[in-house]
Amino acid sequence: MIKKKVCAAAILLGVIFALTGAPGAFEVNMLVETRSVGRPSILLGVSPARLAEYFPDGTYQSEVNTFLIRGNGHTVVVDTGFGGAIFENMRQLGVKPEDVDAVLLTHMHGDHIGGLQKDGKSLFPRAKVYLAKQERDYWVDTAANAGARAALAPYGAKVETFLPGGIGTQGSQGLPEILPGIRAVAAFGHTPGHTVFLLESGGEKLLIWGDLMHVQGIQFPLPDTSVSYDTDPIAAAASRKQILDYAARNKVPVAGMHLTYPALGRVEAAGAGYRFVTGE
Ligand SMILES: [Zn+2]
Repeated sequence: MIKKKVCAAAILLGVIFALTGAPGAFEVNMLVETRSVGRPSILLGVSPARLAEYFPDGTYQSEVNTFLIRGNGHTVVVDTGFGGAIFENMRQLGVKPEDVDAVLLTHMHGDHIGGLQKDGKSLFPRAKVYLAKQERDYWVDTAANAGARAALAPYGAKVETFLPGGIGTQGSQGLPEILPGIRAVAAFGHTPGHTVFLLESGGEKLLIWGDLMHVQGIQFPLPDTSVSYDTDPIAAAASRKQILDYAARNKVPVAGMHLTYPALGRVEAAGAGYRFVTGE
């Protein structure tokens, strides 16, 4: 089962939850990197009347989160935010950057890779960096993106790429296992190699998605809605619906980089779309 408790000490630490099934239990912390007010104008194809209905004050709460996974002999960070609060949040949990042996990337946008390096130096000195081959190839080679190149440069041969698998019909069977109990699921569209990670321990599962959605107030009920940041909005919508369908059908809890606190919940089918259910 998912255990969840709110840290009394600091809301910035977010929630702690654990996959308790044996063998290979995980403890997962959500680390809040930033909170801000977002403008729903990033949503594509939504009429002004619809926007006014969902966002009466013309704003939504925007959050950037990262996740820390401990267990199965590894200390893992999933995305690094902007490289701001993540390090203080980790310190408060007693985790030093050099304790982290793996950084998993959902994709290479700046709010996910900003904590990998500073001034050309690796900020996770012992870590390997894992990301989808399609993602690395696109940003580093095709787009020749300076930020992406700089982010990976200090890791050199410690960058490992993988080919995420589709979750459509076979469930977690056949998905590449990146680390023990952590598999990579293709969720392309937001970016060419956008990846969702599926944790599994003793039959319990948790999906950590990156940018499968940005504005949960509308993208759960209207999952066809993409945002202007999506490289391929149509593919992004297809991935979103596929993963939401999987999570709802299989009752797999989900956590996300831009879901708002506690950023963890269950997905239920509701009308033509879905709803997000947080709490016990
Ligand atoms: Zn993002």
